[in-house]
Amino acid sequence: MHNKTIAELAKGLADGDFSSVELTRHFLGRIDALDSQYNSFITVTPEQALAQAKAADETRASGHAKALTGVPMAHKDIFCTNGVLTTCASKMLANFVAPYDATVVSNFNHAGMVSLGKTNMDEFAMGSSNENSYFGAVKNPWDLKAVPGGSSGGSAAAVAARLAPGATGTDTGGSIRQPAAFCGITGLKPTYGRVSRWGMVAYASSLDQGGPMARTAEDCALMLNEMAGFDPKDSTSLKKSVPDYTEGLDQPLSGLRIGLPKEYFGKELSAEMSDAIMASVKEFEKLGATIQEISLPNTMLAIPSYYIIAPAEASSNLSRFDGVRYGYRCENPENLEDLYKRSRGEGFGKEVQRRILVGTYALSEGYYDAYYRKAQRIRRLIQQDFLNAFNEVDLIMGPTTPTPAFDLGSNSDDPVQMYMEDIYTLAVNLAGLPGISVPAGQINGRPVGLQILAGHFKESQLLNAAHQFQKATNWHQLAPSSGE
Ligand code: GLN
Repeated sequence: MHNKTIAELAKGLADGDFSSVELTRHFLGRIDALDSQYNSFITVTPEQALAQAKAADETRASGHAKALTGVPMAHKDIFCTNGVLTTCASKMLANFVAPYDATVVSNFNHAGMVSLGKTNMDEFAMGSSNENSYFGAVKNPWDLKAVPGGSSGGSAAAVAARLAPGATGTDTGGSIRQPAAFCGITGLKPTYGRVSRWGMVAYASSLDQGGPMARTAEDCALMLNEMAGFDPKDSTSLKKSVPDYTEGLDQPLSGLRIGLPKEYFGKELSAEMSDAIMASVKEFEKLGATIQEISLPNTMLAIPSYYIIAPAEASSNLSRFDGVRYGYRCENPENLEDLYKRSRGEGFGKEVQRRILVGTYALSEGYYDAYYRKAQRIRRLIQQDFLNAFNEVDLIMGPTTPTPAFDLGSNSDDPVQMYMEDIYTLAVNLAGLPGISVPAGQINGRPVGLQILAGHFKESQLLNAAHQFQKATNWHQLAPSSGE
C-alpha cells in the first residue's frame, strides 16, 4: 500500500479495496519500524490518527466522502495542531501544545484526511539541511550519510521513505523545493497569498508560504485543492477562487515556451547536474515545447537581499518568544532582564540566534537605509526580472539546487556556503512566484531536482508541465532501498 500515490490511495479507498483504518495502521507501522533511521518525525499521533481514520471510514459509509477522505499524511511541525505538540524543532517550543489548528490543518481535517504526526525540520524553518533541529538531524532515505535538505527535511524524508504518502511543508526561500529535490520527491511552493499562513509559526512573513510535498505532481494538485483558498484570518491571503488543480493536468504541452535563465547554469552548477537538467529539458522539447535562453540579471543578488530581509522579519517575529507567555523559560531568573536573556539564549539554537542578531542589526537606526532599504530595492529588481522574462516565455526551468544532497556535517561550519545552496530558490520567494521541484535524475544514487517556475497564480500550468514530464519519465517512481 505504501508504494501507492495519493491518487491511487484515494481510488482504493473509494473502491473499498482497503479502509482508512487499515491504511493508517499500515503507515503507522512503517513509521514505527523505519523512522529510527531517518528521524523524520518529531511527534507521531497514533491514537488521533486512528480516531480520524475511523471517522473517515464512517463518513465514507454514510456516502459523504470527499476526494481525500481517509488519506493519511503528515504536517511539518511548524503548523499549529490543536492539542498536539507544535515545536518548530526548537527547544523554545519543545513544550508547546497549540490551542488551535492552523488553517491548513483544519482544511485537511475538513477534507477528512488523517494526520499521522508532525515532521522534523530546521529550527524555525531556518536552514537548508535539517541539521538545525533541536530534535537532531534528519537523514536522507537515499543515503543515510546525506542531508535530506531543509527546512522541510522531515516531510521530504518521510514521503521519500514511504512513511507518509504526502506531507505539508513551508517555503520561505526554498524549504519545500530544495528538500523535495534532495529526496527525489515533488514539492510545490504556491504563489504568496495562495495558502493561508494563519497558524503557521512565522519566520519571514513576507516570504513564508505553505505547500504540498508528495511523490507526484498529481498528488500535489490533489493536496493543493484542499490547502489553497482565501482565509479572512490571514490579511495577506488573496481573495481569489481556487480552481480544481487536477483539471488541467492532461493538457498537451505543444507550443509551450520554456526559458532557461543563463544565470542558472553558471560555474556553481556541476557538469553532471547541468547534464541531468538538460536531459529533462529535452523531454519537454519532445513533448512539443520550445526552449530559449533568457536572462534574470539580478539572480546573484538574491542571496544578499534575502539574507537581510528574512532575518530582519525573523528578528521581529521571534521577539514574541520572551519566556513570559509560552514556550521555554529559564530556571530561577534573577530579574526580568535575566529572564529574557537566558530564556532566549538557552531556548534558541545557534543559527536562530545568528539570524536574530543579523536582523536586529539590519533594522537598527543608521543601518536601516544601508541594508534593509537596499535589500528591498533589490527585491523589486528581482521581481521585475521575472516579470520581464514572463513576457517572453510561459515557464522558466533550471536546477532546484546547485548540487545533489551533500554529506551530513559538510557545510555546518560555513554558513555562507550553506546559504549558497539556496541560490536558485530564494529569488522565487522574493518575487512571490510559484515554483515546483520534480525528480529529474540521480547522481551517485542521490536525486536531482528540476525546478519549474511560472507567473503568479499559474500553479495549474506548473502542475500540468510537471505531470506531463512524469508521464514521460520514471524518476519520481524510484524508491530508496532503505525503506524496503
Ligand atoms: N534555507 C533558507 C533559509 O535558511 C530557506 C529556508 C526556508 O525556506 N524556510 O532561510
